Amino acid sequence: MYRCVNCGAEVEELYKSYCPNVLKLLKCDTCDQLADKYIEYDPVIILVDLILLEKRAYRHLLYNCDLKYCWKLVIIIWLVESFRNLSLCDYKTKSIETLKTFQPIFDGHCNFYLVLLRTAFSLTAFAVVVILLTKVKWYFESKSPGKYRTAHLWKALVIGGSCKLLGLLEITWGHIFLAPHYLLILGYTLLCLLTSYSVVSDNGKMESSVILGMGTLVYNCASNFLSTTFEVSD
Ligand SMILES: [Zn+2]
Repeated sequence: MYRCVNCGAEVEELYKSYCPNVLKLLKCDTCDQLADKYIEYDPVIILVDLILLEKRAYRHLLYNCDLKYCWKLVIIIWLVESFRNLSLCDYKTKSIETLKTFQPIFDGHCNFYLVLLRTAFSLTAFAVVVILLTKVKWYFESKSPGKYRTAHLWKALVIGGSCKLLGLLEITWGHIFLAPHYLLILGYTLLCLLTSYSVVSDNGKMESSVILGMGTLVYNCASNFLSTTFEVSD
């Protein structure tokens, strides 16, 4: 089942095909607008709308596109986040001057595999907490399980979280620390997450912010806990 990108209502078909080159876009019965105008749009325009945090573009991507390679994006986010955590690991013992040149450490609690494990655990904790809280909310609001699906939540978190890949620019700039530009990337990632999550969960901005905030808190706690555990065991 597809969704109207304007109101989010379920629609059976988005277009009718009369011949390979002729498509007729169908209207949504609920809002009487074209159910998904993005079908005829160039991917670049869709990307621009996604960057501009347009909810309709997120609905198109999350509901009306086949995101079968989403798992690859998960792996890329995991590796990039691990790379950043690896570069930040043990930073307290280094001087600012040393930090300006990234030199990864492959022993002790900054072991590459431990950082990968820590990042995977933290990201999973974030996703599980957000999904659990959302499902509890859906349960109390008696929302239809057919319309509100966990798979869409996973996709929304992956698509929203993929803005973190902008952090790759840090490698080009040679700064992998809590510099102002990273805070900008972090802020934009949170906005993307907020948009994609609120589209799928049907929550207001305040509710979405609270649930994502709790997920972020758990992410930080899990990361700090494992970091301390590995440090002690060294
Ligand atoms: Zn509609």
